[in-house]
Amino acid sequence: MENKRIVTGDRPTGRLHIGHYFGSLVNRVKLQDKYETYILVADVQALTDNFNNPEKVRKNVRELVIDYLSCGIDPKKSTIYIQSMIPETAELTVFYSNLVTIARLQRNPTVKTEIAQKKELFGESVTYGFLGYPVSQAADITVLDGEIVPAGEDQEPLIEQCREIVRKFNSIYGEVLKEPQIYLSENKRIKGLDGNDKMGKSLGNAIYISDSPEEITKKIMGAVTDPARIKKDDPGNPDICMVSYYHKLFSSEDECKTICEECKAGKRGCVACKKQLAKNTIEFLRPMREKREYLEAHPEIVDEILKEGTAKAKKEAEKTMKKVKKAMKLGY
Ligand code: ATP
Ligand code: MG
Repeated sequence: MENKRIVTGDRPTGRLHIGHYFGSLVNRVKLQDKYETYILVADVQALTDNFNNPEKVRKNVRELVIDYLSCGIDPKKSTIYIQSMIPETAELTVFYSNLVTIARLQRNPTVKTEIAQKKELFGESVTYGFLGYPVSQAADITVLDGEIVPAGEDQEPLIEQCREIVRKFNSIYGEVLKEPQIYLSENKRIKGLDGNDKMGKSLGNAIYISDSPEEITKKIMGAVTDPARIKKDDPGNPDICMVSYYHKLFSSEDECKTICEECKAGKRGCVACKKQLAKNTIEFLRPMREKREYLEAHPEIVDEILKEGTAKAKKEAEKTMKKVKKAMKLGY
């Protein structure tokens, strides 16, 4: 075990898709053997853009944990816990709010993109909570001394913001906090079934880890292919075909090579290609689906993991807060 901690997590706003899987989950599963790992279910952060829908957040807490466990997160190696049960994080967020300017938050490219996407919710003026979620995220990571954050590419500006807060804190109050680093996967961003640059829950272009074989087949049959290819024996361009793109994730190297050659030569129809992809994707996700079915039938296992994980994370957060408060002359 190396002496650094991983702190990472997701918002419980829906089930996880293969973008999450290849973007961050594979790394978390791999790294949990090497580093002490904490994974938070970010329910408070989920409320920043779902404050009007608490049921949705609540319902997805267990779903998210089931996805984690199905994909190979091992509760013996990774501590899974609920963000709202660690009030120390909220306290630290308040302290950090003095160390970051409003202009800096407004310049954060990830937040900027997200605000633009959420016009319907926010109208012309975004909430204080949403604009400030990078501050709360910085508290999530640092309250547990996180130094490594396996996440997708869109998290980069948020980690950078966290690093700035840490540096500012340490320069004013003394060296208390650790500066985290993002750990990107080689698949930094998985594209959507519709050809969109990003697969996303709210974009309606995702294959979920928990999708049934029927759903997977239906989605793949509707995936975007080379639009210039009209007849089966027209030569295709796999570089702009989503089916070819996903074959690289789910099919063997040999299969990919053959598919690519036959497509370019106009010898392989899109329907056959999609059917093969659906079969391979269903097979790839089978063990996860089976694990999910088991856990769905045993919710008490999930609840116990969360209970234990949260108690452990809380203890660690309390330790950090003691140091933080002492440094800030708040240690009464
Ligand atoms: P939403 O559409 O509601 O924003 P989402 O599908 O983008 O949902 P998030 O909960 O925002 O999912 O994602 C959590 C994290 O998972 C992201 O910050 C990112 O690091 C990673 N992630 C999400 N989608 C992808 C993707 N398509 N490729 C790689 N990583 C991804
Ligand atoms: Mg997102």
